[in-house]
Amino acid sequence: MFEIQIFALTLLPLLAASLIVLLVNWRIHKNMRGPAHWAAGAVSRMLGIGMIAIGDPLPVMLVNVVGYFLVVLGDFLAVHGLSQFAGRPPLRRTSLITLTLVLAGLGYFAQTMPDTYIGIIILVAGHVVAILLLVLLQLHIARQEGLSGILVLALSSFWEIFLGPALLLVIYLASKDVEIEAVLGWMSWVQPMAAMAMIGILQTFGFMLLAANRTRRELRDMALLDTLTGIPNRRAFDAAMRRAVEATRRNNTRLGLAVIDIDFFKRVNDTCGHTVGDALLRHVAATISSTLRDSDFFARVGGEEFALIVEDTTSEALVEVAERFRLAVETHALTRANGTALHCTLSAGLALSSPGHVDATRLYTLADQALYQAKRNGRNRIELA
Ligand code: GH3
Ligand code: MG
Ligand code: MG
Repeated sequence: MFEIQIFALTLLPLLAASLIVLLVNWRIHKNMRGPAHWAAGAVSRMLGIGMIAIGDPLPVMLVNVVGYFLVVLGDFLAVHGLSQFAGRPPLRRTSLITLTLVLAGLGYFAQTMPDTYIGIIILVAGHVVAILLLVLLQLHIARQEGLSGILVLALSSFWEIFLGPALLLVIYLASKDVEIEAVLGWMSWVQPMAAMAMIGILQTFGFMLLAANRTRRELRDMALLDTLTGIPNRRAFDAAMRRAVEATRRNNTRLGLAVIDIDFFKRVNDTCGHTVGDALLRHVAATISSTLRDSDFFARVGGEEFALIVEDTTSEALVEVAERFRLAVETHALTRANGTALHCTLSAGLALSSPGHVDATRLYTLADQALYQAKRNGRNRIELA
């Protein structure tokens, strides 16, 4: 015998706990798109499960139609929240079609066959559709943000894909008055139900971790990336320099540094305006980046000054890298909004440490002095200290 009322009663405290967690999560990540819908989904599910748990004193139609429907509606609010979080289209049509079918099915069968399990089967089926949509969205998020933030959510959804059909089978067998233990041996209807409840909690924490991970990433980017050009900023450069100095000592290699300054940049600002000056900064940053290797660390260290760390290098290799980005900037003009091309050049000073021994401040001073030498020698050129 299958008692959804008893199941709903055991589910209520768990659901209340996860509702509170989701509300707190929403408050913490107030500017993020997604957590509000996820919390609203928990409210809807809580109301639905609450009605099912109260059961008999309420009109049967209210419980079996409205109560069941609120549970599935809660699932689809979570789907909506996750698609917002992933920056995906809201899946409006799929959600509306499924919810309409669920409501129509619940209404029809509550009228025509009130004493069967068909309502519960429709509920679980709607739930399974929502889970499949959640999994698709999670695949998208994992591709964008990596697996670590989404792992708990992904694991819970993974198990639910198996549990949904298992639950449907158990309910079907119960409806036929088959002794489930006899058919499935170790399994009774309680087990998939309890697992389902646990997975619901796991999902709540999974979503909370996902939101926390996104916030952590945004804060890190804010602290370490330059807002204008999107490349690492001075703070990130200092940290990278410390790491590079360590590695140079450990591996007994030579550390190369380039300090880069755009030529006559003030003129661009004065003749074309600051907006064009900003666009040119972005353009130069992108042009230089496109010539570098992943192991090079490139940052904006001042107004129109950049710096490049090249680990484990030689003077020939360092000059070659610098000549490559100098030439790239010279030949790739910025196309302005009005269609005209804006050319610019840069000068760079290079410095190279001795093997296994770096004084970061001194290396920077040497490169800076070489930069001024390059300016004095006519600009659009590279000088090695
Ligand atoms: P030089 O060839 O000697 O380097 O000449 P320069 O005109 O580039 O001289 P300098 O390096 O001293 O000029 C830096 C100018 O960069 C001054 C400042 O107005 C401008 N600048 C600094 N930061 C920004 C920024 O974020 N946006 C814009 N548009 N301009 C900036
Ligand atoms: Mg300058
Ligand atoms: Mg300059």
